[in-house]
Amino acid sequence: MRTLIKDIIKKEGEIVELSGWVSVRRDHGKLIFIDLRDRSGMTQVVFLPGNAEAHKTAEEIRPEWVVKIKGSVNRRPDNMVNKDMETGEFEIEALEIEILNKAETPPIEIQNDGYEIGEEIRMKYRYLDLRRNRLQKNIRKRAKIMSFVRSFLEKNDFIEIETPILTKSTPEGARDYLVPSRVYPGKFYALPQSPQQYKQLLMVGGMEKYFQMAKCFRDEDTRGDRQPEFTQLDMEMSFVEMKDVMELNENLLVEIIEKFYPEKKIQEKPFPVITYKEAMEKYGTDRPDLRKDKSDSSLLAFCWVVDFPFFEKTEEGGWTFTHNPFSAPKPEFINDLLDKKDIGKILTTQYDVALNGIEVGGGSIRNHKPEALLSTLEIIGIDKEKAEKNFGHMLEAFKYGTPPHGGIAWGFDRFIMLLEGEPNIREVMAFPKTGDGRDLMMEAPSEAEEKQLKELKIKFGS
Ligand code: ASP
Repeated sequence: MRTLIKDIIKKEGEIVELSGWVSVRRDHGKLIFIDLRDRSGMTQVVFLPGNAEAHKTAEEIRPEWVVKIKGSVNRRPDNMVNKDMETGEFEIEALEIEILNKAETPPIEIQNDGYEIGEEIRMKYRYLDLRRNRLQKNIRKRAKIMSFVRSFLEKNDFIEIETPILTKSTPEGARDYLVPSRVYPGKFYALPQSPQQYKQLLMVGGMEKYFQMAKCFRDEDTRGDRQPEFTQLDMEMSFVEMKDVMELNENLLVEIIEKFYPEKKIQEKPFPVITYKEAMEKYGTDRPDLRKDKSDSSLLAFCWVVDFPFFEKTEEGGWTFTHNPFSAPKPEFINDLLDKKDIGKILTTQYDVALNGIEVGGGSIRNHKPEALLSTLEIIGIDKEKAEKNFGHMLEAFKYGTPPHGGIAWGFDRFIMLLEGEPNIREVMAFPKTGDGRDLMMEAPSEAEEKQLKELKIKFGS
């Protein structure tokens, strides 16, 4: 039966069977050493000449070969202990070795952290890139945090609900990815920029507490902390006010830090809440970096920013929403919204959470009455007819007893990136796109077959 490498420290003197990859081989003639790696760790294996068959095989093996080794767990003499390895007080004396698979020389170095390797080649060979320790750690940590979030929310009576990927265009401020319909030529699905409308419709549907690790798609220029597709921790709750959503999320953020990053320090708890006006006046940004000591990599300064203006002027002189067209104004501005009066002064219920100067999440209480949503749409230049066409389902739904509701979404990749001290969200995603939006491993985007285009009735050129 297979033993995981991390467990050999409990098996001194026993014969174990290990499976994994060869990281390094050092051939000292008589003695051959390999560092063997599996998902749990690394250990040194030694091949002695007395074990002729295993020794002979060991002469042949190369880095990244996949092997199965039977050997005894020996304690190393004190002066040979490797303090850099968790298993460093032990080594495996190989008795038998079986080659499970050979490997060509990897086109990229995978024993180091890989920061200096060109992005193109790392992304092309992402499956090899993922083997490096740093990415193993990031992806595993991400999964653990995700699982923790799920159980936290489930304990708080939330249910995870998947919402469609093939859907309808919804304004979130970015460009949509469109998918042509074969059955209805000339018609398109849009990939969701976020599950905003679905989660609100789930509230109409009486689900009350929803969350989802949601894939979101935005066709915008990629930056270090942006990708064309990314993951939001998305949630929505019924019968809540701003403080309820903020409090729950703050508790979750604090618990994640305390459990997974005990070495880090949250500068201020409860998180300071500052208004947009104050943030702009004092810090010149709506996601201020409140760290008292910026040289301290373990300091986490969270803050909430509230009281954003609901609307801002467009270049053409009209109005657009600052965050989310589905937000409700602060209660004292509801009449101004309905009357379309003093539009520039209306404040929204939006709350953003920033961490060390980066926005990690944002949400709001929503308009749950059709007339308020309609008024918002009208202010941003969507007339009744267009509102009916694009948002008729929301306006209709809100007629049937919609509970007051609100929610939030975190940029989950970005959050993990910050906590892991990574410079780019690609470092915490298994299969990210390059800076210019390509998947170099799969070679996407790619041309479609003539037959597919025909079926979709798509023609290019003149
Ligand atoms: N859907 C919003 C976003 O993607 C988040 C929210 O308001 O819940 O930014």
